[in-house]
Amino acid sequence: MTLLSRRQALKSTGLLSAGFFLSTTVTRALAQAATPAPTGPHKLAPLPYAANALEPQFDAKTMEIHHDKHHAAYVTNLNKALADYPDLQKLSVEELLKDLNAVPEKIRTAVRNHAGGHYNHTLFWQCLRPEGGPGPEGPLGEALGALFADKEEGQKLFLEKCLGVFGSGWVWLTLDANKKLAMESTANQDSPLSAGRTPLVGIDLWEHAYYLKFQNRRADYVKAFFPLINWEFIQQRYDKIAG
Ligand code: MN
Repeated sequence: MTLLSRRQALKSTGLLSAGFFLSTTVTRALAQAATPAPTGPHKLAPLPYAANALEPQFDAKTMEIHHDKHHAAYVTNLNKALADYPDLQKLSVEELLKDLNAVPEKIRTAVRNHAGGHYNHTLFWQCLRPEGGPGPEGPLGEALGALFADKEEGQKLFLEKCLGVFGSGWVWLTLDANKKLAMESTANQDSPLSAGRTPLVGIDLWEHAYYLKFQNRRADYVKAFFPLINWEFIQQRYDKIAG
């Protein structure tokens, strides 16, 4: 091998290595950009079941995007909003939402949206399970009975409430300070916690929650939600708060 060709060989190897290194770095950076791992005090818990566990009502792709992208983004953006506020970083997401006036005005809207998004979605995943389960009994069953004549009327009124939400928001069953059960809606990612009420169960009415499978058919999405409701979890939650 001549000196020249050796140099050329080294040069091209070097370029190849640099090119390989660069492409690996870029590939990694792109992968990270696509699925940012939230860092900071607030963490994204995995779904409490496999992404396809709620098939056929809720499809796996929607569940993956909803949890891994949308919910993750709320956590990431909440941590970003709190980056310069170490005292606020020590508060739980519930504590932040219960007293938004204590949050500096500069980041209040960001905390309202992203702490709300984080809290609402964490509850939403827990309120669902593959086989749903029988309706609630005991005190929660009685409280629901006082709110709705029967299950059919309850589902009908809940569906009407869901269809009445203009734009993005949520419909909830909540408990007020007197532990009275009510049905209500909130806009955007607002949490009932910020209005002094505790949500027991809620349905996400943002299009990202259903558009892939149901497109504009929000009613079909709400009807698919009913048999997935994890009443056992909600009953435990009610007993803990109202008991
Ligand atoms: Mn959502």
